[in-house]
This record gives sequence, C-alpha cells and structure tokens, in this order.
Amino acid sequence: MLRVTVLGSGSRGNAVLIDGSEGSVLVDAGFGPRALCSRLLAVGRHPEEIHAVLLTHEHIDHAAGAAAASARWGWPAYATADTLRALGDTDSGLPVHTHSLAATGLTHVSGFAVEHHAVPHDAADCRALVLTDGRSGARVGVVLDAGRVPEGLPEALSRLDLLVLESNHDREILANGPYPRLLKRRISGGSGHLSNEAAAALAARCAHRDLRGVILAHLSETNNTPELALASVRDGLRRAGWRRDALWASAQRQPHAPITATGAATPVATSQLSLF
Ligand SMILES: [Zn+2]
Ligand SMILES: [Zn+2]
Repeated sequence: MLRVTVLGSGSRGNAVLIDGSEGSVLVDAGFGPRALCSRLLAVGRHPEEIHAVLLTHEHIDHAAGAAAASARWGWPAYATADTLRALGDTDSGLPVHTHSLAATGLTHVSGFAVEHHAVPHDAADCRALVLTDGRSGARVGVVLDAGRVPEGLPEALSRLDLLVLESNHDREILANGPYPRLLKRRISGGSGHLSNEAAAALAARCAHRDLRGVILAHLSETNNTPELALASVRDGLRRAGWRRDALWASAQRQPHAPITATGAATPVATSQLSLF
C-alpha cells in the first residue's frame, strides 16, 4: 500500500504526504504548522499520523515549517548533511531532531527505503527522492526544483509506480511574462526550475508499463497553467507509449486528492478543499 497526497505545491510552499505499509512521511514542509495542520485535516489526516519529514533542500518553500513542526509534533527531519548545514543558517533554523540521509545507498525511514539523487538547483544540495515501500515494494519518485535533468536521473527513476514531477513553467509565457530579466534567467537556467517541456521529456523517459500515475508539481501561477503543463507532459508520455489516463496537476492553493499506487484518485470532499 502506497499513497501520495500533494498537500500543496508551488513557490509559496510544498508538502507531499506519502503513506506506506508501516508509516507516513512528509516530503518537504514548506508551510507553517498551522497551514500544514489545516491542509492535513482537509484530506482527513492529522499531524500525529506523520512519522518523519524528508527535506529535498533548504529553500523556504520546502523547509520553512520543518523546525516548528518538528518542535510541535516531534517529527524527526531527514536531509543530506549539506542541506542540514544550510538549513541551520536559515531563519527557520534546524529542526529539533535531525538525521542525515546516508551519503550513498539507502536510508530506512518509517518503513520506506529512501534513495536520493543530486539535481542541479541553486541550493546547497538539492535532491530528488525515491521512496520504496518496504512491504509492497511500491516506489514513488519525487522531483521538485530541478534546473535540468542530470545524467543518471532517468535511470534512478525507472521502475516507479508513481512519479511526482516539477513542471514549473511554460517557456514562452515565462519569456514574455512580467518577471524581471534576471529572475527569468534564474528560473530557466540550469540551476532553476523544470519547464513543461523538460518535465515531458523526463516523464517520457520514466514511462514504463507499470508506471501507474504521474502528478505534476511546483506549477508557477504566473508562468504556467495546469492545462498547458498537463498537455505537454501527456504528449511526452503518449509518445513514449504510455496510455494510462492517470496524470494530474497539483496546485498551490489546495491539497490534491490522494493518489494510490494503483493510479486511482481518492475523492476528498470539495467543500473541505475549497477552504484554501
Ligand atoms: Zn521550490
Ligand atoms: Zn528551491
């Protein structure tokens, strides 16, 4: 049993709840404890059910709530040694209980075997994560904030059941949009964020018969639309021969419906989700 719930994703906060056979973890805690709590409640869950938080990198939209949530609910935080060091220099500070992810090989967290892979991004040590549920063997990959796809990453993301993938911007909208030139260059540069086109190419390389679902994340509200991101990645997946109808775009404002390892979306009362 593996289930993925994007509680929110974008430049104002990211948190992805992953439930496995033996425990539940959050990937990133970019919301404060209050927002995290209300987003969890909106999908029928409670902070006490979370056993640990894994951090992809120290940027505020991924780690701002980690220290406060760790203090409040006792969540241990896992990240690479460089990310923990960088986090100690941020305003939010280090969580109370921290653990370094093993530099190589697997780290076992709440029933998951966790692998991490370096991705280029303007952070100390940004990582893509792959979590394998110890009991079922189901695998989920989480790729947030990647400037480009490094060599070896598509192979590391092979044999996934579910993929959470950044699809940040439409290149044309970004180029013609309101952002200052330097910021445009930062976003589209090799240490920024993945475009829809880059996400489509990576998704296509991850596609295989048993990939059950793809959830797009970190969509820009200024430089993208869910329709464009979905169309682009759907096209890439179709070209790779992936025919499932199991592609979704998560949003900043509200949690996405939970997605199971079978590729099914679990409905959540929309009245609850529209609170955000
Ligand atoms: Zn981010
Ligand atoms: Zn970042």
